[in-house]
Amino acid sequence: MRAYDIIAKKKNGKKLTREEIEFLLNGYIAGNIPDYQVSAWAMAVLFQGMDKEETAYLTDIMAKSGDTIDLSSIKGVKVDKHSTGGVGDKTTLVLAPLVAACGVPVAKISGKGLGHTGGTIDKLESIPGFKTSLPMEQFIKNVNEINLSIAGQTANLAPADKKLYALRDVTATVDSIPLIASSIMSKKIASGADGIVLDVKVGSGAFMKDYDQALELARTMVEIGKEVGRDTVALVSNMDQPLGLAVGNSLEVIEAIETLRGNGPKDLTELSLNLAAQMIIIAGVVSNKEEAINLLKEKISSGAALDKLRELIVYQSGNSKVVDDIDLLPLADKTISVNSQNDGYIAEIEAEAIGVGAMLLGAGRKNKSDKIDYSVGIKLNKKVGEAIKKGDKLATIYYSQQEKLVEIKEKIRDAYKINAKSVEEKPLIYMIN
Ligand code: URA
Repeated sequence: MRAYDIIAKKKNGKKLTREEIEFLLNGYIAGNIPDYQVSAWAMAVLFQGMDKEETAYLTDIMAKSGDTIDLSSIKGVKVDKHSTGGVGDKTTLVLAPLVAACGVPVAKISGKGLGHTGGTIDKLESIPGFKTSLPMEQFIKNVNEINLSIAGQTANLAPADKKLYALRDVTATVDSIPLIASSIMSKKIASGADGIVLDVKVGSGAFMKDYDQALELARTMVEIGKEVGRDTVALVSNMDQPLGLAVGNSLEVIEAIETLRGNGPKDLTELSLNLAAQMIIIAGVVSNKEEAINLLKEKISSGAALDKLRELIVYQSGNSKVVDDIDLLPLADKTISVNSQNDGYIAEIEAEAIGVGAMLLGAGRKNKSDKIDYSVGIKLNKKVGEAIKKGDKLATIYYSQQEKLVEIKEKIRDAYKINAKSVEEKPLIYMIN
């Protein structure tokens, strides 16, 4: 077998066999096939696509290229959730305790933020003392004892994807649906859950700007999941504005706590409940969405979900008093408002610009090695659809350094698109697949 023939076959729109994909990927990992041949192949895939079977082969090969997490010693059906990335997306902080409070084991491996999107691990690390780096035995023990643990990735998960993704990133071959779908699903499959709930974001702040593409990505990932024997459901949700009102680590933890108290923003509450509902349906706790939502709401009103969050924090060495006293979380004491320069209605809040603004404040990383300031961020005062008068507050910036403050303020103001006429709000959840 030769890499050249595999590239040429894909260039000509032919279907590759499992052996051919395996030869290419394994050769690449072993260092026997160079970057330039794999880039040519990725570009051929970008233009010619891959069918369901090829995509499943690629996923499976990447999932098995490194460690796989064995969750079999955890009793019950383990269901994971993955979001394709957004701004202000703290649904994991809300739904993980909620689902665990329903008796479903949640063994969640989460990521750190990079660029304009935040990561669950950074948000949790804003809780004083909270440890996200746990030995695997401890992680599994915690799930067996309290149904819940959230840890950062330590195992060598899907290294073939890591290497291929870095290559795609510099060869303009990221935006291929089979390559994105196999990349995401390989990591989820290697993480060991029996079921997977996917939140595919669409809109200005998302990876997928276009609804049809987001739908295709969602369907492709569901097919892969089913092909490899994991119960998989996808939801396509709107990211034409940040989710909720808070963007920044401590601010987002506070908002998640409020949501678990039943006082969260409408969009965050709705999305978290819908994702959690799919998780408990897959786990077999309830048989339909209505029952699921009722049970989840009951876990909020009884305080069981908030108790579960306290338990999670205690089990991971954090100060659980933060749940009842948010002043114990690091929050910048310097704030500045961003005010509207016009009258009108908010038509859009460019999520990516808000995410970049938060990153520049220090809430996120431009480079992997950057240090995070947990105390800074942006609190939105207005969301899409609301009327606004000149001088009204659009957002509040929590900052610790003056540097770039003027630039950040401008960026946030520009992120708000204000129309003279009222705009129809887009649905938050487009479909469940
Ligand atoms: N996220 C991933 O993990 N992989 C992709 O290819 C794109 C987004």
